[in-house]
Amino acid sequence: KPRDKKDVMELIKAHDVMFVKLWFTDVLGQLKSFTIHVDELEVAFEEGMGFDGSSIQGFARIDESDMVAIPDPTTFIILPWRPKEKTVARMFCDIYEPDGSPYKGDPRYVLKKALEKMQEMGFTNFFVGPELEFFYFKSPNNPEILDQGGYFDYSLDAAEDLRRDTILALEAMGIRVEYSHHEVAPSQHEIDLRYANALDMADIVMTYKVTVKEIAQKYGVYATFMPKPIFGVNGSGMHTHQSLFIGDKNAFFDPQDPYHLSDIAKQYTAGILNHIREITLVLNQWVNSYKRLVPGYEAPVYICWARRNRSALIRVPMYKPGKEKATRIELRSPDPGCNPYLAFAAMLWAGLKGIQNKYTLPDPVELDVYHLTPEERKKLGIKELPGSLYEAIEEAEKGTVLREVLGEHIYNQLITNKKLEWDDYRIRVFEYEIEKYLPVL
Ligand code: GLN
Ligand code: MG
Ligand code: MG
Ligand code: MG
Repeated sequence: KPRDKKDVMELIKAHDVMFVKLWFTDVLGQLKSFTIHVDELEVAFEEGMGFDGSSIQGFARIDESDMVAIPDPTTFIILPWRPKEKTVARMFCDIYEPDGSPYKGDPRYVLKKALEKMQEMGFTNFFVGPELEFFYFKSPNNPEILDQGGYFDYSLDAAEDLRRDTILALEAMGIRVEYSHHEVAPSQHEIDLRYANALDMADIVMTYKVTVKEIAQKYGVYATFMPKPIFGVNGSGMHTHQSLFIGDKNAFFDPQDPYHLSDIAKQYTAGILNHIREITLVLNQWVNSYKRLVPGYEAPVYICWARRNRSALIRVPMYKPGKEKATRIELRSPDPGCNPYLAFAAMLWAGLKGIQNKYTLPDPVELDVYHLTPEERKKLGIKELPGSLYEAIEEAEKGTVLREVLGEHIYNQLITNKKLEWDDYRIRVFEYEIEKYLPVL
């Protein structure tokens, strides 16, 4: 991994790089890219490259549209699916105002600010391990599946080579893959990344999504991270494993505790449980996200934690109990349609609030919460995630966490954008209504 621009210049010579893509992310998590010739790189590092921020979702207004992108040399990677000669590399950028101050609409900046807060509280690392699930379809126009496989299926799996090539491409970029397998739904897959620091991981998630899509395209198929493309089967989640470290010490680990969780881990978990309703807008940001968060499909609905039970919102994995490095919590509600910078920032912020205010963690719920009656849930004090994008917007507005973590600029952009999306959705007439009402009314 290069440390500075000198390292980058050497890699460029050694690998015959001719083009460098400069990447950044808009507020809704869409990857933005423009390409410069290597000869421009010196200038890019020194002064940055200008672009029109008013054309980027959630960025500037038309009257204050000049933005500057400065590449981060530590993110330099050669894109393995491009030709080997006169090849193409990419770097992630930080976005600045023309006067040199960091741009408040840049999601990478939001995550950096949240990590600063963490450091002020005495932690050195926020490690995250996301599990992104996705579907392969024959085309982007309809969800036609490629196989009938299920969880861990081998012989039914049409995507062995697709996944293999994707993993080889990720590894060629220095991105470590730990697991990969067919997922529960037909044509659904999962490739799990080795955990990393949240900022590195947010960059990696953006790269992972592009890689999965690029390799699929080479095979003439379409890969999608849409949270719930098919009614009646599992949707795609982005379960996120997380822990806080102080140096090489896992602050979540306590060998004496029955769950091997420290007070810090418990307060952090309580922070997420307490604030999950207000940060859900960022973890599940589309109308479609809420069609995944329903009972019966291994996606969480009820706000509680557990060790084994996968219907809980937060699970404390027990594969290797007592192993310090592996002690972590798994938040199961995020979906891969989120903006990973904002999502990691929001979960961290909620968790840190729990630590700051020493929240107490309720008891775990080891029952299958899908099957409890509403009265039983009420007795156990178990609340629910927002049931729709509309409810998530309301919760975000009632709370303070999203405003704090995102800052006024992105918070306002997000709320405005999501209200427009909800209205756009709300006024349409769907096939469901035609089928259900037309013949009888
Ligand atoms: N697809 C499920 C979800 O939406 C998770 C299934 C699994 O990983 N066991 O979260
Ligand atoms: Mg998994
Ligand atoms: Mg999975
Ligand atoms: Mg999982």
